[in-house]
Amino acid sequence: AKKLGLVIDLDTCVGCHACVTACKGWNDQGYGVPLSDQNAYGSEPSGTFLNRVHSYEVQPDQGTAQVINFPRSCLHCENAPCVTVCPTGASYKRAEDGIVLVNEDACIGCGLCAWACPYGARELDQAAGVMKKCTLCVDRIYNENLPEEDRQPACVRTCPAGARHFGDLGDPDSDVSKLVADRGGYELMPEMDTKPVNRYLPPRPKGPEQEVDILAP
Ligand code: SF4
Ligand code: SF4
Ligand code: SF4
Repeated sequence: AKKLGLVIDLDTCVGCHACVTACKGWNDQGYGVPLSDQNAYGSEPSGTFLNRVHSYEVQPDQGTAQVINFPRSCLHCENAPCVTVCPTGASYKRAEDGIVLVNEDACIGCGLCAWACPYGARELDQAAGVMKKCTLCVDRIYNENLPEEDRQPACVRTCPAGARHFGDLGDPDSDVSKLVADRGGYELMPEMDTKPVNRYLPPRPKGPEQEVDILAP
């Protein structure tokens, strides 16, 4: 079966937050707003986020400390606890492509799904009283009014580092599946048995010699 999702490269993500801004822009303003017009005033987006990026400094056993930038959004789990707990059926997983969505007309904003998600991937839109989460930009990826190259999630289209990849992880021959196989892509918190579709590619260790190179005249 089709399993659409993201592969996020923790080695190349530079923590620029362009994906956060693009996500916000597309999903708040709806269809038809060009990415170039989003966040036109240079202001920080606020309110509900479907995608966030956290930066941590880590000290490996060997080598120098490095900053890991960690983008976080819904992983479109196969065993999605957010779907199981939803009392109204508003949260659901699509059979045709595995995308987990919220039917906003049926959502009562009770917040149970956000409690159930072990990844903190859902946020309540206080003003609208409905739950929000990453939709994989379902209104872009199948949108025939958009040019072919824009038929991918806004975050993927925007990332200047090429750190975000979109595709079918249910197809072992897809580019994303090959990337996962080549780079040792991993599942987040497999012990939860949520079976997330999204994968992360691990950062490569940075040796002290690289730092010397940078500092050399
Ligand atoms: Fe649900 Fe969270 Fe899994 Fe997304 S990441 S499908 S919100 S449990
Ligand atoms: Fe379902 Fe909405 Fe409650 Fe989440 S907030 S469990 S989607 S009714
Ligand atoms: Fe990382 Fe790309 Fe997002 Fe920038 S746009 S924070 S490089 S994933």
